Amino acid sequence: MYFTLLGAPGAGKGTQAATASQRLGLAHIASGDLFREGVEKGTELGLLAKPYMEKGLLVPDEVTVGMIVERIEALNHDQGFILDGFPRTMEQAQALDRALGERGKALDRAVYIEVSTEELVRRLSGRWICRNCQAPYNAVSSPPRVPGKCDRCGGELYQRPDDKVETVGKRLEVYSAQTTPLLSYYRKGGKLVGVNGEQGVNEVAEELIAALHH
Ligand code: AMP
Repeated sequence: MYFTLLGAPGAGKGTQAATASQRLGLAHIASGDLFREGVEKGTELGLLAKPYMEKGLLVPDEVTVGMIVERIEALNHDQGFILDGFPRTMEQAQALDRALGERGKALDRAVYIEVSTEELVRRLSGRWICRNCQAPYNAVSSPPRVPGKCDRCGGELYQRPDDKVETVGKRLEVYSAQTTPLLSYYRKGGKLVGVNGEQGVNEVAEELIAALHH
C-alpha cells in the first residue's frame, strides 16, 4: 500500500502518519523531518534546505524529489509506505507518479486532512516538538506531562523556528498557492479521500484508517 497525506501545515499529518504507519506496518517518510534532520546535522541537504525553511518557502522540487525517491528506493521491494508532507507541488506529484510507474507501482490513495485556517493558526502558534523523536505537543490542547519534556522519550521540547507567527502566515499562503492544486489532481485520478481533521487525534486516526481501506 502506498499513500500520501495531504493537508495544510498544522493539519496533523505528522501525528497521523506516525500512528497509521505503526498500525499498518508501513514506512513513514516525512520530507519535513528529513530536512530538519539535515539542518540539525549540518549535512549538504540541510544547508541547502535551511534558508527556504526559515522563510516558510518550499525547498526546490529537484532537491525534494531526489531526497524522497532515494528513500523509496531504499525500502524493501514489498514494503508499503506513507508519505507525509510530500508531494507539495504539481511537479512533485507528477515526478512521484513517474518514479513509482518506472518501478511498476502506483500511489493507492491521497488522504486529505481537512482543518479550517483559524484552527491551523491556533495549532501552529502553540506547537512544541520533541528534538529527539519529533513528537508534537500543543501548549493549550495537548501539553506534555512535564513542561519542556517529551512524554514519550524524555527529550527536550522546542518551538520550530518556522512556527513563529511571522512564518506561519507565509507557510499557509504557500500551501494555498502551491499545494491545494494537488487536491483536484488526485480527485481527478480517483485517489482523493477526505478526513475531518478537527476531531480528536484518535477519531481522526480511525477515520483515516477506514479511508485507506475504502
Ligand atoms: P513540514 O515539517 O512538513 O511542515 O516541512 C517543513 C518545511 O520543510 C517546509 O516549510 C518546507 O520549507 C520544507 N519542505 C517539507 N516538505 C517539502 C516538500 N515536499 N517540498 C518542498 N519543501 C518541503
